[in-house]
Amino acid sequence: MQKRYLPAALVLAVLLALLAVLGVRAPEAAPTIGVYGAEKKVYLTFDDGPSTAVTNSVLDTLKREGVPATFFIVSDRAYNREDTLRRIAAEGHTLGVHSASHVYSKIYASDESFLSDVDTCANVIARVTGITPHVYRFPGGGRHERQAKLLKERGYRIVGWNAVCGDEEIPKADATRLLQETCRTSEGKSTVVLLMHDSARHAETARALPGIIEWYRSQGYVFCQY
Ligand SMILES: [Zn+2]
Repeated sequence: MQKRYLPAALVLAVLLALLAVLGVRAPEAAPTIGVYGAEKKVYLTFDDGPSTAVTNSVLDTLKREGVPATFFIVSDRAYNREDTLRRIAAEGHTLGVHSASHVYSKIYASDESFLSDVDTCANVIARVTGITPHVYRFPGGGRHERQAKLLKERGYRIVGWNAVCGDEEIPKADATRLLQETCRTSEGKSTVVLLMHDSARHAETARALPGIIEWYRSQGYVFCQY
């Protein structure tokens, strides 16, 4: 290129760059789901099941709404409820390991007892559903650094939570209160991992679920599973 054309070429380049920037910026309002994928995600997670009535009620709602979830199982509660465990898998939800016994003093007594608890739960899931679980949630929550290392060596992804519906935290909370707590603890978070429970005493959680799903939808969240 001759030297005398350089200024014109520079002006043209700047103009093109400006147009490109303006083009990307329009329209001004950022969509919730753009060409670059979902910007707001929610993971519905259920601990301490399966139970008969509550888990099946939760599954009915998820099916009706076309929403996926992740279930962290207590395998001692799966005996005589193998159909429910199979239903969770058959309807496309994720099965994760929570515990075999859910008795903290037993689970955390030693590395050996910890791993035995994990393996027992994973084996029940695999035997009943044919699925090898790959996600884990600590019974009682917490960090448990040493145990986390052992789990990672076994290929597990450890899942915590950053929002709660309050079904363990608020005594005798009804479905309305659970929805309020879900909104309060989720507000302003672009990725939400919501902790809920589907054991037998959590009927109000199952009752709150349709409203919870409706609220996340109204806020533009996309439902995800592990
Ligand atoms: Zn639990």
